[in-house]
Amino acid sequence: MRSCVICRQTLPKHALTRYVLARAQSGAAGAALMEDPRKRLPGRGWYCCAEDLCRRKISSYQGWRRRAKAGDGGETGVHRV
Ligand SMILES: [Zn+2]
Repeated sequence: MRSCVICRQTLPKHALTRYVLARAQSGAAGAALMEDPRKRLPGRGWYCCAEDLCRRKISSYQGWRRRAKAGDGGETGVHRV
């Protein structure tokens, strides 16, 4: 089970879309989350459910910045407020 990073709803992995951090060539300033439809890209993943609201919010979601800095290597993310 994974939780949507936006609404925190816990859902089976197949019901969520995985996103990974795509680093722009110019550096971290241009980094953004990128959809990983096959759930096969390496690295840290963030999950978003199928709700329209969440899908819209994930494009501007910035929570990955804090967690990336904290060096959190896990994928649970259940304690983020
Ligand atoms: Zn959601």
